[in-house]
Amino acid sequence: MTSRRRFIAIVPLLGAAALARAEAPLVDPKDPQAVALGYTPDAAKADKAKYPKYAAGQTCGNCALYQGKAGDASGPCPLYAGKAVLAKGWCSAWVKRP
Ligand code: SF4
Repeated sequence: MTSRRRFIAIVPLLGAAALARAEAPLVDPKDPQAVALGYTPDAAKADKAKYPKYAAGQTCGNCALYQGKAGDASGPCPLYAGKAVLAKGWCSAWVKRP
């Protein structure tokens, strides 16, 4: 295969990957996994009585597990396969980014 042909073959794959990333649906807070972990799309509304370890300022965007880019409104989280969490969200599995 010539390098040009190879390039032409790869481009749609890259496009599909970018599309898949951009179009990952947001986690539904009513999803069983989200309920189990206390996920909320708005960290300020985290259930502080149920999750006393929550501290103001903790958000998905500064969680070690968050895979979105800085500045993105949402991004993938490995705890919710195929879904995206909001950068301003939070769940009880929050881990301080090193
Ligand atoms: Fe957000 Fe971190 Fe919980 Fe994933 S593990 S939902 S990034 S707080």
